[in-house]
Amino acid sequence: MSPPQEFIFRSKLPDIPIPTHLPLHSYCFQNLSKFHHRPCLIDGDTGETLTYADVHLAVRRIAAGLNSLGISQGDVIMLVLRNCPQFALAFLGASRCGAAVTTANPFYTTAELAKQAAATKSKLIVTQSAFVEKIKDFATENNITVVCIDSSAEEGVLHFSVLTQCDENEAPEVEINPDDVVVLPFSSGTSGLPKGVMLTHRNLVTTVAQLVDGENPHQYTHSEDVLLCVLPMFHIYALNSILLCGIRSGAAVLILQKFEITTLLELIQKYRVTVASFVPPIVWRWVKSGEAHRYDLSSIRAMITGAAPMGTELEEAVKARLPRATLGQGYGMTEAGPLSISLAFAKEPFETKPGACGTVVRNAEMKIVDTDTGASLPRNQAGEICIRGTKVMKGYLNDPEATKRTIDKEGWLHTGDIGFVDDDDELFIVDRLKELIKYKGFQVAPAELEALLIAHPNISDAAVVPLKDEAAGELPVAFVVRSNGSTITEDEIKQYISKQVVFYKRINRVFFTDTIPKAASGKILRKELTARLTEGDLVA
Ligand code: AMP
Repeated sequence: MSPPQEFIFRSKLPDIPIPTHLPLHSYCFQNLSKFHHRPCLIDGDTGETLTYADVHLAVRRIAAGLNSLGISQGDVIMLVLRNCPQFALAFLGASRCGAAVTTANPFYTTAELAKQAAATKSKLIVTQSAFVEKIKDFATENNITVVCIDSSAEEGVLHFSVLTQCDENEAPEVEINPDDVVVLPFSSGTSGLPKGVMLTHRNLVTTVAQLVDGENPHQYTHSEDVLLCVLPMFHIYALNSILLCGIRSGAAVLILQKFEITTLLELIQKYRVTVASFVPPIVWRWVKSGEAHRYDLSSIRAMITGAAPMGTELEEAVKARLPRATLGQGYGMTEAGPLSISLAFAKEPFETKPGACGTVVRNAEMKIVDTDTGASLPRNQAGEICIRGTKVMKGYLNDPEATKRTIDKEGWLHTGDIGFVDDDDELFIVDRLKELIKYKGFQVAPAELEALLIAHPNISDAAVVPLKDEAAGELPVAFVVRSNGSTITEDEIKQYISKQVVFYKRINRVFFTDTIPKAASGKILRKELTARLTEGDLVA
């Protein structure tokens, strides 16, 4: 019998040679001589601009500085920073030194940061004074060096200048293997707790090259561009698709510490931003703010959204406001970078349909599999989206089981997202198979909140599921079974959780129930619970 037919989808653009033998920093600076004196990083808050030459020099100095503080090849440093130029410098400096960077949300609680630092065995943390208080105790206990980008009165905390004032000639000569880990962001993947995602030099060189290299590139960025970076740099979307793509292309990256609509519009006008990358909730704020008409935003030629679904209603609203800009959507995942992107940016634009997430990126393979049989499906049939290529992570840190559940023996990464590819190769995402909740594009892992809930003596069982919300996309809500005789209230539970987690993981509603529906295997039947949310007969 002949083997079953495999349906594999590829980009409409031809594959390109990708220099995956290069370490990430060398790849990013490969074309440096062409844009040496051009602006590279612009601090939107202070107006300070670093040229490519400045950035290249700082990166070598930081590599020397990290080395002088005992960081060597294979070590991990942690960045606990809001968006700032130093984030980019420290990241590339660590890469140059052969170390890996674990990126954390600076608004994490002490417990969340300490857990990540311990899981990654971080030896040094780069942070800013506002966050030192949260870090100092666990850093001291674990002998972690703390470096602060601004002044901190805290004893033992070093100033960033210990890194930037080193002699660039002292930068260590390291031989980097393309399969060495360069960044360790955290993601819960398709199930369970957040895990360290091991992304290698090869992975990131691939994910950047797929978007900006080659004969017929996706033209969403080139050296004349000013890219807006308001999305958090600790997340793979901004790190890969704005910062690293921008530097590789010789563009200027305008870095904003936080999202505030008036400042954002002012800076777009002032710096003539050409490419604006957002997540749908930010686009909603823009559309609804009523302020946009007061600014000259005509420089924007491309607006991209990703990290969460963008409804067609929002697409229409943006098109009406920015009629001359190309609007595109990307779909990605920490474990594999961008999987698909709208080809409207390509030199030869292809039609893109409302609601589509673009087509699979070049130099990668995509398939859609039947979730029951595992067979690959033809066009127009929905199933789990899988991706293969050198973009796919090396695995989860210290978690071979989770790695095996996510990447199969043939190298396919199973995304946990349900979608289909239409007759024009465009990908549509229709559902999420995995547990993940996305609040404004931020990950909330139900298992993490469930573990905290169940640890409470007055709670005997709990499940956390997403509730649809216009502003946030999804909000985490909990179904809770009280312990015998317990009268714990919704407010008490919410407060108990709020103290332990970053703001977007806070539980929005609590619904008391007698049992949590589970399969024989013990797996929570989440769909049953989400169905109850739409039935409207819930009592909090
Ligand atoms: P993260 O690893 O935080 O980037 O989250 C990845 C997940 O976000 C994906 O597996 C999807 O569930 C969701 N996601 C990312 N981009 C999109 C998109 N354009 N449309 C719908 N969901 C998306």
